[in-house]
Amino acid sequence: MIRRLINKVLGKKTAAGPRILPLDKHGIRREQIHPCALKVTDTLAREGYAAFVVGGAVRDLLLGREPKDFDVATDATPDEIRRLFRRSRVIGRRFQIVHVYCGPDLIEVTTFRAAAPPVEDEGDEDESRVTAADGMLLRDNVFGSREEDAARRDFTVNALYYDPEKQEVWDSHGGVADAQKKVLRMIGDPATRFREDPVRMLRAARFAAKLDFHIDPATRAPIAELAGMLARIPASRLFDEMMKLLLSGHAERGVKQLRAEGLHHGVLPMLDAILDDPSRQKFLHAALHDTDARIRQGQSASPAFMLACLLWFDMRRELERKRGQGLHEQSALYEAMDTVLERQRRALAFPRRFDGMIKEIWSLQGRFEQRSGARPFRLLSHPRLSACHDFLLIRAESGDASQELADWWSRFQDADEAERAEMLLPARGTDATRKRRKRRKPAEATSRAPEIG
Ligand code: ATP
Ligand code: MG
Repeated sequence: MIRRLINKVLGKKTAAGPRILPLDKHGIRREQIHPCALKVTDTLAREGYAAFVVGGAVRDLLLGREPKDFDVATDATPDEIRRLFRRSRVIGRRFQIVHVYCGPDLIEVTTFRAAAPPVEDEGDEDESRVTAADGMLLRDNVFGSREEDAARRDFTVNALYYDPEKQEVWDSHGGVADAQKKVLRMIGDPATRFREDPVRMLRAARFAAKLDFHIDPATRAPIAELAGMLARIPASRLFDEMMKLLLSGHAERGVKQLRAEGLHHGVLPMLDAILDDPSRQKFLHAALHDTDARIRQGQSASPAFMLACLLWFDMRRELERKRGQGLHEQSALYEAMDTVLERQRRALAFPRRFDGMIKEIWSLQGRFEQRSGARPFRLLSHPRLSACHDFLLIRAESGDASQELADWWSRFQDADEAERAEMLLPARGTDATRKRRKRRKPAEATSRAPEIG
């Protein structure tokens, strides 16, 4: 009943058409659009098609931020788009997108599409009917009008269309007003839209953190109750979405937002473990803080680094277990790393290509302890020294490694040859050291830096 009423209201809005705002109402100038996106929209318009810059780019420009990428939406079909651009190709099977290239740049061009009519009943059967194996909506799979294309998007600020020819913003759902009020508001009935695609709950937390917006109370209300629906989303899609959040440059706020919405459990198995343990939490926050700072300074941050952070304590626990089984130190380390990565992969399906870097970050932590003889010099030429040292700095910040050690490595890297020679510590009997550590009680051992590598 309520649903029908809402659909009716939405229908009316559709009939009324979009608000079309001229330049002085939104301030987005044509020159602010990426030249490759302009080339695409200009070409499409010349051929008589509708062509808009859409989604995140319009939102970000409206907010005075720099867009991450420029997407274009049009009423031309994938084949028609493909024919207009020599350097383009169609990707995707279920719903085709065209990638248009200009030099190294890439623009995603999508044909307007509509959501299929809303499902009448609620309950478990419906979701499986509309959700494909990768958790994306099958119902998204039909071409539609620009109005329909706007209505199938998630939040009002994500449903703005910019026409570069006329420098107009087309706003069908009040996105411009919401951007001014800094409100993240779901288009349509929030509970219905979250049920259609539960990942939108994570997106709500991500955008609220990234844009520093409030989630509109009506949008927020159903999340607590529906959070459990994330369990049916394939692990690979959850992983991708969480990496977007953790590598957004606003991860600290994003994780806080997840907790506030009751979404932090069951999204990433390792996040559960971390958020339930105060000492791990401290490390996580140091890691997120550091990564946010790096990204905002335009430095790189990789999923592998983030995974190494998230799984660090699991690896340490596993390492203690392997040591307890009497394995040689080196084998204990390698078996522990493999065990932890394989266990997580079963839960999360993250790509194997990250394993190499994760293992390097972990195994170098022990090698940082060796500060005499030729060993520290050998580390200097390690291709991943910088990332591994960043990891050590995060450990030091959260009390998991000695600050003195982390600082020593900062200085050692900057020093010249003579200074380095002076910095070296006197050689120690490594056998004796190892025996001493072996006798240490497990509780004490885990609270200190491990001797690994
Ligand atoms: P970012 O700058 O973080 O990439 P974005 O708004 O571009 O933000 P994307 O995930 O790249 O976000 O998606 C592009 C657009 O596609 C969104 O702005 C939104 O309109 C639409 N969209 C993406 N995912 C969904 C979804 N799950 N449900 C509805 N609309 C979606
Ligand atoms: Mg985007």
